[in-house]
Amino acid sequence: MPAAEVKTTTCYMCACRCGIRVHLKDGVVRYIDGNPDHPLNQGVICAKGASGIMKQYSPARLTRPLRRRAGAERGAGEFEPISWDEAFGILETRLAKIRATDPKQFALFTGRDQMQALTGMFARQFGTPNYAAHGGFCSVNMAAGMIYTIGGSFWEFGGPDLERAKLFVMIGTAEDHHSNPLKIAIAKFKRSGGRFISVNPVRTGYSAIADEWVPIRPGTDGALLLAIIHEIIALGLYDREFVARYTNAGHLVIGDEASERHGLIAVDPQADPVNPDYPQNQLWWDRHTARPVLSHAAGTDPALFGEYRLADATRVKPAFQLLAERVEPNTPEWAAEITGIPAGTIRRLAHELGITARDEKIELPIAWTDCWGGEHESVTGRPVAFHAMRGLAAHSNGFHTTRALGILMSLLGTIDRPGGFRHKAPFPRAIPPSAKPPKGPQDVKPDTPLASLALGWPGSPEDLFVDEAGGPVRIDKGFSWEYPLSVHGLMHNVITNAWRGDPYPIDTLMIFMANMAWNSTMNTVEVRKMLNDRNADGGHRIPFIVVCDAFQSEMTAFADLILPDTTYLERHDAMSLLDRPISEFDGPVDSVRVPVVPPTGECKPFQEVLIELAGRLKFPAFTRADGSRKFRDYPDFIVNYETEPGSGIGFLAGWRGADGTQSMLGAPNPKQWERYAANNCVFHYELSPSYQYMRNWNRGYMEWAQRVRMRRYGEPILVHLYSEVLQRFRLAAQGKWPGRQPPEALRARVEKYFDPLPFWYAPLEVQATDASEYPLAAITQRPMAMYHSWDSQNAWLRQIHTHNYLFVNSATARAQGVEDGGWIWVESQWGRVRCMARYSEAVEPGVVWTWNAIGKSPGAWNLAPDANEAREGFLLNHLISDSLPGGTSNSDPVTGQAGWYDVRVRIRPATDDEPRHTWPEFAAVAAAPGTRRSL
Ligand code: SF4
Repeated sequence: MPAAEVKTTTCYMCACRCGIRVHLKDGVVRYIDGNPDHPLNQGVICAKGASGIMKQYSPARLTRPLRRRAGAERGAGEFEPISWDEAFGILETRLAKIRATDPKQFALFTGRDQMQALTGMFARQFGTPNYAAHGGFCSVNMAAGMIYTIGGSFWEFGGPDLERAKLFVMIGTAEDHHSNPLKIAIAKFKRSGGRFISVNPVRTGYSAIADEWVPIRPGTDGALLLAIIHEIIALGLYDREFVARYTNAGHLVIGDEASERHGLIAVDPQADPVNPDYPQNQLWWDRHTARPVLSHAAGTDPALFGEYRLADATRVKPAFQLLAERVEPNTPEWAAEITGIPAGTIRRLAHELGITARDEKIELPIAWTDCWGGEHESVTGRPVAFHAMRGLAAHSNGFHTTRALGILMSLLGTIDRPGGFRHKAPFPRAIPPSAKPPKGPQDVKPDTPLASLALGWPGSPEDLFVDEAGGPVRIDKGFSWEYPLSVHGLMHNVITNAWRGDPYPIDTLMIFMANMAWNSTMNTVEVRKMLNDRNADGGHRIPFIVVCDAFQSEMTAFADLILPDTTYLERHDAMSLLDRPISEFDGPVDSVRVPVVPPTGECKPFQEVLIELAGRLKFPAFTRADGSRKFRDYPDFIVNYETEPGSGIGFLAGWRGADGTQSMLGAPNPKQWERYAANNCVFHYELSPSYQYMRNWNRGYMEWAQRVRMRRYGEPILVHLYSEVLQRFRLAAQGKWPGRQPPEALRARVEKYFDPLPFWYAPLEVQATDASEYPLAAITQRPMAMYHSWDSQNAWLRQIHTHNYLFVNSATARAQGVEDGGWIWVESQWGRVRCMARYSEAVEPGVVWTWNAIGKSPGAWNLAPDANEAREGFLLNHLISDSLPGGTSNSDPVTGQAGWYDVRVRIRPATDDEPRHTWPEFAAVAAAPGTRRSL
């Protein structure tokens, strides 16, 4: 039967944001397909996207605001419906009191949402620093490691230019990451003859279609990358011209252990720094005249090797010399021992990367001007592209590993060049970006917005968020000396810290779209106990928990108040340049969702909840001078909000100006939503070709980006092969920094891990594990057909996965007496799970893996308590701890990234008399009022 109506909007069955067409009949969704006119997916749709209909009509949908029944335990899932008026009344009273006394008693943490510009703004206006999204336990190492090195990162921030690449190396990427867009690009790349190498412990998904699979031990990627850098330098296969001009390789690093400036870059104090935050008076050693000169002075060329003395006898070395010294011992043989990859393979890979970059050089006839006034007739490309993600990041050594990758990409000359890595607006950003977190407890004041956003990019110890004793101010200890560059916060610390009252107890924890009582937490069994734990006076240790979600998850059972969110088909959304847009390599792209069906039951978009609360609490940015509300609702807010009065910059860049004829900048346009809706929900600004490449150093692009206020400053963004930022923290740890210094207990840690050059160390958990007891690395990845825990309520996708196995190499399994399909115990030093094993030759003998979040607790997601997900599915999180021996968080000591992939386990068969279902077991949760129990 033909559908009566077709509406376009943007998918949200995963985070890729493909364009979709929703086919409706009599107002009911009948079918969803890809929008052929959408630039991102060009009509392609995946299994998840096509199954959106089953999400819309899922029995797990929450449909009414709910309050925990008086006397019911948290976790039991016993609720009573209340009205929105009542829910808002409860929140307004509670939050107003917190805001007027101690705003940090309110913590807001969100999952894989796409509205962090709004949630971040809400927290800032509230005045609480206790805000973050999920990045701290996802891939902050990837974001921070790359941004602190090249000024951009992968996925939303940039990616491989597979249209022109000849060699593509994917490393540490889940089988379906960046789903449709990357699949489309890889398909074209392979058809045009490109060679695809996948470095991954597991050969599924993308790795299964790679031309070469290079299995690697989890947590050792940094050693591989350092060895490849070693080879590239030893063979002279780096792009000298690029490295000399566009990185800080030629910058002279002071080598005077006694000096406060040891390890910093030498400057000419007589010369104008231009911008003290990004000084332009740093020195090179000019090869032609054999003397120090200002970097990039006309007619000069920096020495990359050697040791020199400045006029005052200060010893200096070019940063590149220090890098070469660093990787000198990192031979392929050294890396082979660590990674399990034969030294010959490492040598061959390095050679292939270097030769392809050198010999397959691209010249595009596009003229451009660099930031120092140099005119270029063409844009040069080096057709070697990389893509990397959580497999590199989710280790407690992932920051330095990611830095090593950024450096390798730079040595090959591939940054923002054709065939290599290309930025996506609003990147590149300055290194580090100029936004800073609050600096101390004095920045948190009653009834006052924070002066800055809660999250930012520290550039020195002065940018940390610590008290006078150097202690943390955030509940997750972000931006403290424990995790100085925790630019995405540490969501995985929140519940444990709040339960401990360390650094202080909080009053209200609001969680949006994050399953923190299940797969979005480590140490799940203990965390669930913490959520329901009480003080001696009988009150909960975390007094009030608010959860906003569209579905009855494991987390909602622990809420005191549940706010039913809409689905993506029922609401407006803005994927904004202020947040995480869907930009293309050729220019900024933002997009929206528009409702294609009305909200179910009493569901309300979380954005509307925030706008309503912001109005009730009279946040300055949401209130007129006369005290009335500035914004009617979320769509009104998106259209009319400007970053400053009259700035012309709002959430959406398209069709601005009163008549909709302006873009990027312009007055609010009351018809902006309609214009997006009429244009496939997407706005694409194509940059002039001469602004599309070399953007770190492209004068024309910089001027344009400043004009549209995408960049604050116009100084070139040199790649930081050598990180002066890290050295500042190290100097502080050594007692040489004139400003803030770490507490004694953390000095050695900061000194060790804030190395200005990348290095490899075994992940912290591995260091704390007896390898003879727990010899196997255990990792997870998200399956292609499901997005984290979202899709077990989806009737179609459940037909693909209703339970998971632990995949074990058959040799490993047989050695332990484990049968294919047999029930086994998997044990770490922290806990154990019972699950089923499946033989697999697509994983190396030293590694086991499973899909994340298919296992469910009984009754959650409104599945029948004996559903396969609860009986046979399991969660690896039970084996992972959020704390390591000694009490430190299981996180990267630079960024606080959760060390998800560092756990070590052993396996053994379950005995014949043990039950054939998963363990640990949890009590079944009742269906929440307003949901329908599924079959
Ligand atoms: S990849 Fe699939 S689920 Fe993700 S946005 Fe695109 S169609 Fe939707």
